[in-house]
Order: sequence, then C-alpha cells, then structure tokens
Amino acid sequence: MSRILSKDTKPELLVRKFLFGNGFRYRIHDKKLPGKPDIVFPKKKIAVFIHGCFWHSHQNCKYAVSPKSNTEYWSKKISNNVTRDRKNTDELLEKGWKIITVWECELKRSVLNQTMTALIKSISL
Ligand SMILES: [Zn+2]
Repeated sequence: MSRILSKDTKPELLVRKFLFGNGFRYRIHDKKLPGKPDIVFPKKKIAVFIHGCFWHSHQNCKYAVSPKSNTEYWSKKISNNVTRDRKNTDELLEKGWKIITVWECELKRSVLNQTMTALIKSISL
C-alpha cells in the first residue's frame, strides 16, 4: 500500500514519543489483537488507535473531506476502513479492552497539549 498508510506515521510517533517521555511503557502494533492497535498497554488492557481523519472518516471533521476526483473509489475505500474499525473495536470490547482513539486533528499544535493531557488521564485511570 501507499506510504500514507505505512506503519510509523508521524502522528503516531508523536504520541509514542510523548508517552515514552512521560514514563509510559507500551507495546506497538500488537498483532495478536484485532486491528493491531497502534499502542497497547497489556496489563491495563488499553488499546490506543491513532487515526488519520481522512482514512478513518472522522465525523464532523474538516480534515475528513473526500477528494474531488475518484470520489467513488475513495469513498468505498474509506467506508471499508470504517467497517473494519468498527469490527475491530467490537472484538476488543468483547475481550474486555478499553479503547482510546486519538484523531490526527487532535494532534495539531494548538490542541496537542490538551489531547495529551486527556490521553494520559485515560491511561492512568
Ligand atoms: Zn479529525
């Protein structure tokens, strides 16, 4: 697949770096779990997904607009992603996991601190 979907996307690295810097230790891309969550805290049973707004169709988000060309192709691709996300989420919840989704737009400079504070709070609970 294209580079955009590569494993270590920048937003993900940003979150990992921040968590690591704050003393959190985690696993990444746990293949044993549905959807290979980006960041996993096995003991706490917390799975963190860092989602691109476009690829995962962030609701009411200005970054989730569909491209003007090849509209059908993209909308199909993205709706497949959303379906898969939902399936993975359901499976994780069934296994007793807590799921935290961080959206790419929440990692913009102006809101980053707020997002990270909230994230740390949810993980520390
Ligand atoms: Zn968004």
